[in-house]
Order: sequence, then structure tokens, then C-alpha cells
Amino acid sequence: VFYSVIPAASYTDSSDDETSPRDKQQKNSKGNSDFCVKNIKQAEFGRREIEIAEQGFPVFAWKGESEDDFWWCIDRCVNVEGWQPNMILDDGGDLTHWIYKKYPNMFKKIKGIVEESVTGVHRLYQLSKAGKLCVPAMNVNDSVTKQKFDNLYCCRESILDGLKRTTDMMFGGKQVVVCGYGEVGKGCCAALKAMGSIVYVTEIDPICALQACMDGFRLVKLNEVIRQVDIVITCTGNKNVVTREHLDRMKNSCIVCNMGHSNTEIDVASLRTPELTWERVRSQVDHVIWPDGKRIVLLAEGRLLNLSCSTVPTFVLSITATTQALALIELYNAPEGRYKQDVYLLPKKMDEYVASLHLPTFDAHLTELTDEQAKYLGLNKNGPFKPNYYRCLGLPIK
Ligand code: NAD
Repeated sequence: VFYSVIPAASYTDSSDDETSPRDKQQKNSKGNSDFCVKNIKQAEFGRREIEIAEQGFPVFAWKGESEDDFWWCIDRCVNVEGWQPNMILDDGGDLTHWIYKKYPNMFKKIKGIVEESVTGVHRLYQLSKAGKLCVPAMNVNDSVTKQKFDNLYCCRESILDGLKRTTDMMFGGKQVVVCGYGEVGKGCCAALKAMGSIVYVTEIDPICALQACMDGFRLVKLNEVIRQVDIVITCTGNKNVVTREHLDRMKNSCIVCNMGHSNTEIDVASLRTPELTWERVRSQVDHVIWPDGKRIVLLAEGRLLNLSCSTVPTFVLSITATTQALALIELYNAPEGRYKQDVYLLPKKMDEYVASLHLPTFDAHLTELTDEQAKYLGLNKNGPFKPNYYRCLGLPIK
């Protein structure tokens, strides 16, 4: 089943990119040529995309949901007359949590859970440890392809975009502290360093801390630099990493934002006190003003900066969606007994398959093992090429 998937058609037809649109004879589907666009053939692809988007699938979501709206939307996804889910595809563990809490009977029909996020996976391991996980779960967050693209490469690009769109700032020479040097932190640090920022890192794990040092970043405690930095970015997946005490000590105009977990990393609630004034200066940008006139710039009210203020590239979505789809198929089709009530990593071969489906985008040519080489390395010529614990893709690993 997996290996018959056909890669999606490309929306970039570069075959005749060289010719100026002015020199092209083009006709639309009605035979009309009174227009000039780059490539009318792309209209067909766009129309198909719209048709797909218009099918399908009930959606319960909008930007700016309240906490209450959020849970209402989750409930509407599963609380449907005459229908029950047989798989859970989750990102953050909230849907899984809701079904556990409200509709535990649904698990009789559910064959498995596929979880996308660090935090959701963490919750699943906790359930498994407590013996409360009632179906097999696939941790796709830790599949190499998904992790590197969603956490590292995506954040490496979207941190700059999110900051630019909200603040219009220049990065060169700015002092930035990045809390957490995991995948997301590594991406943010790499991007800011490349733009000429002076980057400090905080870490609790000596291995990631050592990596930060080796990559040329100053490892500090947040307290040591909090008075001097221009930007504070949290990427830890933890809570209360930036506290009211830190916020009190920041310099005027310091920008504070979160790229890690939901809205827990910065203690935003501690800023809702009578002596501080909040001023909304534009969408997703608040100035929080102290009685002496000092103001900090809080982005997206402490929620994920890139998801709130930037966009996720379709290429990243394609990688993650492919990974999720393969994990769902694997759990659903697995013969009885292959997966128990535990948390599993996506089999390496499928992880490699996700990557190989995306290689043609780069016109990349993969080398094939000779029979002799495969024998020498003890590998099947068709993979898997690495053991399940292998996570490195060129950039520093944890
Ligand atoms: P990770 O586990 O690789 O990295 C987090 C790092 O933070 C770890 O190295 C940990 O030691 C460190 N840390 C924990 N507490 C800390 C503290 N108090 N001070 C300093 N460092 C601390 O995880 P990751 O893949 O980098 O993901 C981090 C968070 O980002 C997760 O919550 C994840 O869900 C989220 N995430 C966001 C995006 C996005 O698009 N913004 C994408 C992927 C993941």
C-alpha cells in the first residue's frame, strides 16, 4: 500500500520559465487569449486544489479561538451522532486527552493514536508508564524526517519571518537569547547567527549545552543577560522559563516571543496586573508598559510566534502529512499483536520512504548500493539504511 503512493503534482512548472510571459501565446479554457500571466496551465492545478479543499472534511477551527472555543471545536470533531473515530491523529495531545476524559468508550473502536508533537508524545509516554494507554500509539514527532523539517528547518526559516512581519526589525548586531538548544532552538540560533545577531543560549541539558558551545554560542543563565538582550526567544517545551522577574528586568523595547510549547513558556499571566498597561500596537503585537515608561514588545501573547505570525511552508506540511498518513496506515493495517498498548517510533523504512518521496523536488539523485556494498554493510539494498535509533541528518544531533 505504502509504496504505490504517487507524489503530488507540482505547482511549479519550470519547463518554460525562461520565456517572458509577454512573448507567450496563451489561451484559457474558454479559448480567450486577452490576458497575460506567467503560465495559464497552472490554473488547472489551482482549480484542482480548490476542489480538494471544498470536499471533504468537516473543519472546526478559526484564528483567535478562546480557550473555551478551542475545547468546543475539539468536541465537535468527535461528538458526532452515528459516527465514531477508529484512529486518532493528534498534534499536542489535546484530542487524545479529551477522548480519555469525555468519551473513554470510544477506545473500544479506536485502533491507534498517531501523535505529532513533543508535548503530546510526552503525555503518551506518561500514560504508557502509568499503564493507562489503552491502544497502540505511534510517536511521529521523533521520526527523523518529520522532526528535522518541522522542528529544525521550518523554525530556522520561520523565526526570521515571524519577527520581521511583527516588528520590521533588522537582526544584525542585535543581542538575542534563545532558551533551549533542542531542534527548534538550533534552528532559531542558526538563522539569527547567519543574520549577524549575537546569540546567547540557555540550556539545562549538558549535551545540548556542549553542542551550543561547539556551534559558537555563549552558554549563559538567563539572569546573566536578561538586562542587555534585545530579543528573548523560548524553545524549551517547558513552562515558566521566562518569569515576571525576568520580564521586570528586561530593557526598554526588548522583544519577547515563544517558539516552543503553546503559551506556557513565558509567564504571560503574570503581566496581567493593574500597574502594567497593555497597548495593542498591531495584530499579534502588544506593548506592555511599566509605570516608569519601560515597555516590552510581546509577540502573539506568548503563543507560537511562527504559527501565529508567519506561515508554515507547504513543503514542511507535505513532509509531516506524509509521515502521519503512513503511521495511520501502519497502525490500522498492522496484524493483531504487532503493536501492543505502548508508544512506538515510525519504522525506519517508512521514515526513509517519506524522505525519498520528497527528493525529486530537488532533482536529487540517490546512489544505489551495489550488491557487494550491501553485503559489506549488512544492509538490504532497499533499506532500511540506518538503525531505528539513528536521528542525525547532517546538522548537530542531541
Ligand atoms: P527538544 O526537546 O529537542 O528541545 C528542547 C530543549 O530545551 C531541550 O534540549 C531541553 O534540555 C531544553 N530545556 C528544557 N527546559 C529548559 C529550561 N528551563 N531552560 C533552558 N533549556 C531548557 O524539543 P524541540 O524539538 O526543540 O521542541 C521544543 C518545543 O517546540 C516543543 O514544545 C515543541 O512542541 C515545539 N515545536 C515548535 C515548533 C514551531 O513551529 N514553533 C515546531 C516543532 C516543535
